Amino acid sequence: MSLSAIQSRLLTACQAAGRDPATLTLIAVSKVQPLDRVRAVLDEGHRVFGENYVQEAAGKWPDLRAEFGPVQVHMIGPLQTNKAKLAVDLFDAIHTLDRPSLATKLANLAQARGGSPDLFIQINTGEEPQKAGVLPGDADAFIAEARRLDLPVKGLMCIPPEDEPSPPHFAALAAIAARNGLAGLSMGMSSDFEAAIAAGATHIRVGSAIFGARTYA
Ligand SMILES: *Cc1c(COP(=O)(O)O)cnc(C)c1O
Repeated sequence: MSLSAIQSRLLTACQAAGRDPATLTLIAVSKVQPLDRVRAVLDEGHRVFGENYVQEAAGKWPDLRAEFGPVQVHMIGPLQTNKAKLAVDLFDAIHTLDRPSLATKLANLAQARGGSPDLFIQINTGEEPQKAGVLPGDADAFIAEARRLDLPVKGLMCIPPEDEPSPPHFAALAAIAARNGLAGLSMGMSSDFEAAIAAGATHIRVGSAIFGARTYA
């Protein structure tokens, strides 16, 4: 696969769903990818990327932004509270607001800096014990609390369980967003982004299908 192959599948999926492709953001997930692959996708003109690790992103994107100009970088991995300051200075959006202590920390930082990256609240739709995210039953209260803190909550994010079909999880996330008046839906990865587009995703997070398999050192 490649960027152009994914873009054409994205357009086909939008057409099938009767959706305007302008309502959809493709986040190219570049975590642990070799720099030459990331540069190749930048050279093709793509300007929206996703990263999972604050430290890795901090070592990569300041230089790439200096070289290529403005690039949106979205944080899609778990965020430790002690990395929150680095994260708000680096990222345009954080998709993994998942607990009250992080909400408080981000609110304090937003007040001190006079602004915050766009935020998505991660929902653990599969209620998996090992996975981050707010439980579906706690979602409405958590969204209300984040709003009370004046956080710029744009939408919700989920990672469906690996061993289950994704569409019911996408539908569940969309239902929570709709009843809370949230427009953003960050859902869909390499293996299921077309189903996510059909279910109303506004942000799909596609890594290996664009860059090739990740090799962890
Ligand atoms: C790594 C990652 C992705 C991209 O996964 P692929 O299967 O390579 O497309 C998307 N979302 C999150 C949260 C990830 O950690």
